[in-house]
Amino acid sequence: MKAYRTLLTRLPEEECDIDYIKRLMALTNLVYRGYEIWSPDLPKTIQHHLYESFKNYMGNLVFGATPKRWFAKTWVPLKTLRIYQDDLRKGIGNAPVVLDFRDNVIRLRQVCKNEPRYSIELPMPKWVVERLKEGGDIKFAMIGLKNDKPYLALVAERVVEPYQPSGYRLVVDVNSWRYGIAWGLIKNGKIITWKTEKPDTFLINTLYHQTIERERKVGKLKTLGYSGSAKVDEIKEQARARRSKIYRITRDKVYFLASKLVRKALKYKALLVIDDMTEESRRELLEEGLPRDIIKLLISNLRKFVHQLETLAKWHGVPYRFERLPSTVCPMCGSKLVQEDGRVMVCDNCGFKAPRDMVPMHWAIKKVEIIVRECVVKEKMGWG
Ligand SMILES: [Zn+2]
Repeated sequence: MKAYRTLLTRLPEEECDIDYIKRLMALTNLVYRGYEIWSPDLPKTIQHHLYESFKNYMGNLVFGATPKRWFAKTWVPLKTLRIYQDDLRKGIGNAPVVLDFRDNVIRLRQVCKNEPRYSIELPMPKWVVERLKEGGDIKFAMIGLKNDKPYLALVAERVVEPYQPSGYRLVVDVNSWRYGIAWGLIKNGKIITWKTEKPDTFLINTLYHQTIERERKVGKLKTLGYSGSAKVDEIKEQARARRSKIYRITRDKVYFLASKLVRKALKYKALLVIDDMTEESRRELLEEGLPRDIIKLLISNLRKFVHQLETLAKWHGVPYRFERLPSTVCPMCGSKLVQEDGRVMVCDNCGFKAPRDMVPMHWAIKKVEIIVRECVVKEKMGWG
């Protein structure tokens, strides 16, 4: 099984010709549509790579390679040459992207400007070296524009077989960022540890209200004719700083948690069971009366979390399954649960009682046996 991870790095604008990159993206789109157009003014090697690289990309989709509509901007796939410390070389000799681990630089040849032998040099991102240590290889790269800024996307590839799960299951319930993400480690039908983790919603809320307050002040000052004054700029800057802090703390939490949970699964050789229920989370958040911008941010971070969890699981060979684990249905008898004070769920039919975030864990215990049996059957049949 091949696993992929992608890193975006911003390219120095002053060293790039945006129109040239735009043109390469347009050509890539045409290649994707099956056209072959040779433009006499473009470097031959680049045109060659465009058609050659694309063949390798078809059906091997990584990031942004599928244009959604005609003439949409498509990232340009590029082959790479890797030069290692011991002078060992892998890849294509005249590739447009050279990853030189001896000098710790990345060289981009002919893709930033349409000038003969034009090349730029970037420092090697730490991320690349880390993926290399984990057994990955950067076979592909892509160049493209995001919000009209030039970027290089590096795609690490790793061939990895998921391990045979031990008796442990790591269940991750993506509830909502309001109450957090609940996870539990289960063995032999018993919950060994469980925890809910969440970003500091109190801090987020505070920052949000501070932002709004400042943005209103700026609006008021502008109508009074103070736009462009130093005071207005200062308040604007304060609002911007708060907004980006909200973004940063939620995003950091996403990456931190996903990596923590995958490491935990690795440690116990657990089967990772993910309950991804973003619609219910959205409703819960709306009920909480949080501001709409914040809900949007939290939901998008939830999606990012699930995506990151899946990406990391694939990369490290952690076997995983998506399973619906309801928190409002009784795991013992299937009746509807009633929520009492303190988010405690109670079954009127059989007397089951548990904190709301624990209910999915009980479902997991019940369902996991079925999942495992299914896995065994699939392996026997060779589907896995
Ligand atoms: Zn019940």
